[in-house]
Amino acid sequence: ETLNSTPSLRFKIVLLGESGVGKTSIVLRFTANRFHETMSPTIGASFLNESIQVEETEINLQIWDTAGQERYNSLTPLYYRGSHGALIVYDISDEQSFDRATYWVNQLQNQGGEKSKIMLIGNKFDLNQKNVDSKMASEYADQNGLLFRETSAKTGLGIPDVFVDLCKELKREV
Ligand code: GDP
Ligand code: MG
Repeated sequence: ETLNSTPSLRFKIVLLGESGVGKTSIVLRFTANRFHETMSPTIGASFLNESIQVEETEINLQIWDTAGQERYNSLTPLYYRGSHGALIVYDISDEQSFDRATYWVNQLQNQGGEKSKIMLIGNKFDLNQKNVDSKMASEYADQNGLLFRETSAKTGLGIPDVFVDLCKELKREV
């Protein structure tokens, strides 16, 4: 008998986007299936590991979340470097956070994450105040070669799919 011979892959995934959009909440929902109404902006590990099974393959995700440095636009190149995938998050109730998503795409691409597959995420989809039009955001993503999903860390909508779908894309390119 051979021991477990399931092929395994390892991907570095970084979370980017304005402070308060729900990056840490998305990670918390994915890794612990929990949600907190109040979160300190500085909560967030430098990275954590999570394994998932995607199409018969064991995938080890190294997920990088910020510890609030995005408030000062000062993430180190180490954060971006060698990332395979990036979740660039905005808040669907906050138009400005959508406008700033382009800033984070540029940061990623200029600081070592140029090979990173990007998924644009409209979070807080549970809110009634929808100030970023889904169709417009989806077209923007298409035009810029980004994947696009809408999520709610609060209800769990679209999570863990964002991680699974991103992994499927990354797996295809290995
Ligand atoms: P980060 O700064 O991007 O890491 O954002 P946080 O995860 O710290 O979340 C900021 C605030 O938004 C917190 O009060 C969260 O409870 C709240 N929040 C995060 N995700 C959602 C969501 O999907 N829906 C709603 N209604 N609130 C959310
Ligand atoms: Mg955070």
